[in-house]
Amino acid sequence: MLAINHYIKNKYVQFFLGCFIVIGILHSLFFGVVEKTASFSPLLFPMLTIFLLVFHLFIACFMVMKYWCDRMRLYLMCFAFAFIGSALLMVGTLSSFPAWLDIYRYSVINYNDAMIYFTFRHLLMGVLFIVAAVLYAIRNRPLSRIFHLSVITGMFIFTALILILAWLYSSNVALLSLHLVDNETRQYLLLWKRPINITLITLWVIALAALLRTTRVRNLFWIGGNFICLCYIATLAMLFLGGQAEDISWYRARLFEAVATLLIMFVLLYDVFNLYRESHLKYQQSYQNSIRDPLTRLYNRSYFYDALNHALRTVKSTEPVSVIVSDLDRFKRINDCYGHLQGDKVLQFVAQLLKDSVRPQDVAARIGGEEFVLLLTHTPPEAARQVAERIRLKLSSFDKASSDGQLPEPITISMGVFTATGKISAEECVEHADKAMYEAKESGRNRVVVFQ
Ligand code: GH3
Ligand code: MG
Ligand code: MG
Repeated sequence: MLAINHYIKNKYVQFFLGCFIVIGILHSLFFGVVEKTASFSPLLFPMLTIFLLVFHLFIACFMVMKYWCDRMRLYLMCFAFAFIGSALLMVGTLSSFPAWLDIYRYSVINYNDAMIYFTFRHLLMGVLFIVAAVLYAIRNRPLSRIFHLSVITGMFIFTALILILAWLYSSNVALLSLHLVDNETRQYLLLWKRPINITLITLWVIALAALLRTTRVRNLFWIGGNFICLCYIATLAMLFLGGQAEDISWYRARLFEAVATLLIMFVLLYDVFNLYRESHLKYQQSYQNSIRDPLTRLYNRSYFYDALNHALRTVKSTEPVSVIVSDLDRFKRINDCYGHLQGDKVLQFVAQLLKDSVRPQDVAARIGGEEFVLLLTHTPPEAARQVAERIRLKLSSFDKASSDGQLPEPITISMGVFTATGKISAEECVEHADKAMYEAKESGRNRVVVFQ
């Protein structure tokens, strides 16, 4: 039982199990549709090809953009060339249906050409997927610009060569044309049935093995990449077993390819969403860091002045703005007697007390070493004094035990209150509150003074 459990937990086993289930479902779904549908619309295959073409172009653009953002991922360019080449070869496939929009001639189809483009498409993608696996294995090595340029040029030449060969070997050049399907009987010919079909299956098996080995199906992206290989192997195996160019095998091939492509697109979109979420989170974090004091997590001086300037823009006698400047009494002594670390704990304790004592819309900030300030909007002088008094009394009520050791001894605070009821600058507001606070210090500390 344990051995089976261990086996199922292996991600390769999970990958193959998942793929076989999906391919099995697709296969039965396909036959379900075939049984219910007497015949297919002649428009369906070219339409499916156009959809797939657009999807492949989309994926190719995405891969190029991803490589543009992260130059370590040269392997992405293999996929870019594979998908763009595939899209261009699908244009060739569409040319095999020259009259698909003509209601009287829609059945004029060059199956042989379609098969030639299909063959070259698989050859191109299979080889580039293998190169991608190799480049993925060496992704962390420092690769020079020349290396990147040579690989990209090499892939460009290879893709162009395949496109030219596909064009030459199709009916465009009668002398070179390959014969894979009999256009009259729609029977596969020997050249396709044996060497080509088997070569393509072998190519995809090698691509799958290489990708599995180097990527170890470590994330959704590589699940998608490996799944596409397995889908192509399944499709080619079905064509191999099918024996003749029955129309439905083409539809089945398209269905498998469309699902695998959609999975890759989903993964790419998910990747973008993830990147957006991460960068948004990082932005939020760095914004919070820029407006908060690192020791106490209260707002910092510059945020406080911004908020005060903002509040003072709309201040009037019916909507007063109060500022409370506070300074811990004899704080230097705490540092001297108990050390700076204990001093920091005291500052954190007082900061939390201030934060907890005001409304969510108020601003509690640390503007100096042990100097704090509160900004209370819509608060008249008497109410502000009461807030300050409440905080002062609360702080002086704590001792070492009731503060869980945060305060090494009871601590007191001196506070100055100023309320703005008309036009005044932020600096003047703080100056007035500061003056009141110094009055509190001079008259014996541990008290609240309202600026007169
Ligand atoms: P009073 O205000 O009652 O006149 O006396 P005080 O001892 O509090 O006065 P003073 O402003 O001279 O001392 C403030 C001390 O605060 C000096 C400095 O060592 C300490 N301090 C400033 N910033 C920090 C900090 O971030 N952490 C710690 N632990 N101490 C700090
Ligand atoms: Mg002090
Ligand atoms: Mg001070």
